Amino acid sequence: MKKGLFPTNKFINLTTPFYYYDTVLLKATLESLKQETNKHNIEAHYAVKANANDRILNIIAKEGFGADCVSGNEIKAALNAGFPASKIVFAGVGKDDWEINYALENNIFCFNCESIPEIEIINELAHKQQKIASIALRINPNVKVDTHHYITTGVAENKFGINLSDLEKVIDVVKKQANIKLIGLHFHIGSQILEMNNFKSLCTRINEIQQWMLDQKIVIKNINVGGGLGINYQQPNENPIPNFKDYINVITQHLTLQPHQQLHIEPGRSIVAQCGSLIAKVLYIKEGTHTKFAILNAGMTELIRPALYQAYHLIENITSEEEMEKYDIVGPICESSDVFAKGMEINRAKRGDLVALRSAGAYGEVMASRYNLRPYPTVYLTEDFQ
Ligand SMILES: *Cc1c(COP(=O)(O)O)cnc(C)c1O
Repeated sequence: MKKGLFPTNKFINLTTPFYYYDTVLLKATLESLKQETNKHNIEAHYAVKANANDRILNIIAKEGFGADCVSGNEIKAALNAGFPASKIVFAGVGKDDWEINYALENNIFCFNCESIPEIEIINELAHKQQKIASIALRINPNVKVDTHHYITTGVAENKFGINLSDLEKVIDVVKKQANIKLIGLHFHIGSQILEMNNFKSLCTRINEIQQWMLDQKIVIKNINVGGGLGINYQQPNENPIPNFKDYINVITQHLTLQPHQQLHIEPGRSIVAQCGSLIAKVLYIKEGTHTKFAILNAGMTELIRPALYQAYHLIENITSEEEMEKYDIVGPICESSDVFAKGMEINRAKRGDLVALRSAGAYGEVMASRYNLRPYPTVYLTEDFQ
């Protein structure tokens, strides 16, 4: 069995659980994406919410990416990490006044707006700062995607975006705001999308909306198709870098851009997921009535995705070469949902073994909580062992 490239002998004496980020893979992933975006002159804004670790942000900023933020503190983190304000977009259905003010003070590139009252408040706050706020309208394109229903965002019943039926009304409101400038349209249909047809459907819908905009003689400078490209959770070793080429090709082939329009994307998971693993220790092997439990010293407090969205993470015993055995692999938290995997085959485990929960670089560390008064997990990068 291939075990990923862990410096396992250096892990042995460390306190567990911890996150380990393979920054060699992260950089290779960024290069791969950059190759495709450069080809088509696409501006990529990394979705900070996927992983906001300051050193990870630093690496991504150094590669020249922009940032997609969903809170004032994410904007702060992005600026601290070196992302230029001119490449920061600010999305979110509930931006607080201080967050809007902070974004205005720092002259970010664009607010992605989701409602009329939000646009009016941004106008009011921009007026007080004597600034013009650049905004994009986040439109709910009502495109269904093949992913877990908790992570679809672009269908009519979601809280996200402006419904198409309200677009005309919203544009009328925008025109009346003296301190607002409409510079773009923004879309984001969901996350962990592997079916390229879903992105094709989005492009078709955007083309329709663009045609309507043209008919109204409304000029839009920027088209932002959001993020959502999925990764291979089943086989991280075989597919460490997502297929950015197919993804970008689908968009560029099906999206009709107007002359001088700039295309933007907002990948999160696809950039950081595969470079991260949660490393935990086996505390106990407990014989259940039907199965064996491997009880880890990490749980939903460190990685909530399995409990929250029934997400699959490949788990490997990185300190055993013994025969494969089936376990229910669980955490120590006092919740029945604190289960990482049922009937997962790993090398026979004993107390003290280290396991790696793979593909945990996105929506892992950032979602950690202190439930049961557990400490936040520590973090190591490749360079910490060199
Ligand atoms: C979460 C989010 C993203 C990133 O999604 P991924 O699936 O991680 O690529 C991009 N844009 C917006 C608006 C988001 O909310």
